[in-house]
Amino acid sequence: MMRPKTLLVVEDNALNREILVDILCSQYHVLEAENGQIALELLAEHKNQIALILLDMHMPVMDGITFLDHLRTDPDLSLIPVIVTTQSDTEADEIASLSHGAADFVPKPYRPQIILQRVANLISLRENASLSNLLRYDPLTGLFTKEYFYQLARGEIEANPDLEYNIVVSNLENFKLYNDLYGVTEGDRLLKAVARIAVDALGPDVIMARIRADRFVNLAVRTNRYCNEYFSGFNERLNQIHGMSHVSQKWGIYEIHDRSIPIAHMCDRAQLAADRVKGVYGQYYSVYDDVMRAQMIREQSIIDAMTQSLMDGEFQIYYQPKYALADDSLSGAEALVRWVHPELGFLSPAEFIPLFEKNGFITQMDRYIWKRACQDLSRWQAQGLRPVPISVNISRSDFYRMDLVKEFVELAAAYELDPSLLHLEVTESVYVENPQLIFATVRQLQKAGFCIEIDDFGAGYSSLSILGDSHVDVLKLDIKFVQNETAKPEDQSILPYVVSMARQLNMKVVAEGVETVAQRERLRSIGCDYGQGYFFSKPMTLMSYEKLLASHALR
Ligand code: C2E
Ligand code: CA
Ligand code: CA
Repeated sequence: MMRPKTLLVVEDNALNREILVDILCSQYHVLEAENGQIALELLAEHKNQIALILLDMHMPVMDGITFLDHLRTDPDLSLIPVIVTTQSDTEADEIASLSHGAADFVPKPYRPQIILQRVANLISLRENASLSNLLRYDPLTGLFTKEYFYQLARGEIEANPDLEYNIVVSNLENFKLYNDLYGVTEGDRLLKAVARIAVDALGPDVIMARIRADRFVNLAVRTNRYCNEYFSGFNERLNQIHGMSHVSQKWGIYEIHDRSIPIAHMCDRAQLAADRVKGVYGQYYSVYDDVMRAQMIREQSIIDAMTQSLMDGEFQIYYQPKYALADDSLSGAEALVRWVHPELGFLSPAEFIPLFEKNGFITQMDRYIWKRACQDLSRWQAQGLRPVPISVNISRSDFYRMDLVKEFVELAAAYELDPSLLHLEVTESVYVENPQLIFATVRQLQKAGFCIEIDDFGAGYSSLSILGDSHVDVLKLDIKFVQNETAKPEDQSILPYVVSMARQLNMKVVAEGVETVAQRERLRSIGCDYGQGYFFSKPMTLMSYEKLLASHALR
């Protein structure tokens, strides 16, 4: 009979540990550890025998994330699959554990059949994979896989303490677009070409991997030969290949000074550097430096502060009025968030909104702003101020993380508002990304009486096709689009066509970023309905806006 495989259960709670061991011991030999430190000691002793680890995230002495980071950076341990055990309502734990290298998770309370099945699946997956070397080589390019790269790179820098190394990451610009336009086969051909050119240039001994779709990485001994010409040379070779004359790669470099950082984090930093030159014409690479480090630290302090700030009422609402171009009368206002933090100072939404979108906090913040806007509207109504509609911004993830229809129907009911007083602005790119889902939700919101706007129209690509399909109520032209188009001679601008198309589709048109009288005149003459921008007014405090409303009510 075959010897049972050995599993390691890492869990501080004795009862939970016992339950897990009970479930597993019928089929496996089980070792137990009550924290990450003890687990590492057991692993040092039994590393070649352990087929899988079940890991609790919250433990004294050494928590789950730290433990995962140890595993990931140890070449002997990084291939052992880990299943994380979580409370069923802690999505944050799941995401954190997966991003730190866990392979799967099982929620508490434990369901024996599910645990046994997941354990069996993972073990057999890993065994098959290591048999066929799948885990070591990327089948498309023949380069190393991410996991194996981490292992090899760690081994290399530890074996050569006297050498200095860099992590060099490269990305293709607009690879997703390339794939969409030319198809996956062409996309694959491009990736293979990138790999071949890099191997030809750097030689077969350089440790190189493809770590994600179009993201490549290598570990290089530090040199001072880096310059734009060096990197653009790679692109020139790529551009000589048929069909690839327009593609371009960008590079990011992380100089390894602190060798204790996990290789994965080093790659993230090199990636940050690469992001800095993304879309920047003529600049092919950037080196991770103190400015980026400071930015990372600043981002972290923003993230650390956000929840408390929301509770403390530090997020405030500003209103930017909107005017009818026909007679310059007040026709609405957009609610824009402002955040003044006691230590960080004034923070621009352009800085913190993208961070909140990434970490999901945007949903809480948006909900707070919507509620404040509804409170204001209801107070104005009670004061007899004849409010004009308020537009609020909806983020991409709001569609995925909550039931927007229920949310807004309940809000309007709670504050006794006519839904038509609420305009919901949804950025163009959100429609493009998942038209079916967004259109369906939009349709229901419209049925419930809310007014829907496409925001930032003209900022991205594939705009016109979306217009016809969307059936939204209002088209809001992007600032840049408005400013570029009104700067062109009249017969060269596409603005009149966009406006007349919207009108044919029964949409109202709002122009954002109106800054000059000439822009206002131009927009009025082509039939644009409303204008918003510094020409009329900057976003203003609640108090100023209330004064404006009061004077408007007197007219
Ligand atoms: P947006 O929705 O396109 O908002 C318009 C932005 O343009 C605002 O910047 C506004 O202050 C600015 N702006 C208005 N008129 C002019 C003008 O004439 N010239 C120029 N140069 N700029 C003008 P702000 O307030 O910094 O907001 C930036 C972005 O942050 C917004 O772009 C929106 O995407 C996001 N945002 C702001 N508040 C919220 C919010 O409460 N929720 C969500 N989800 N996003 C928000
Ligand atoms: Ca907006
Ligand atoms: Ca906008």
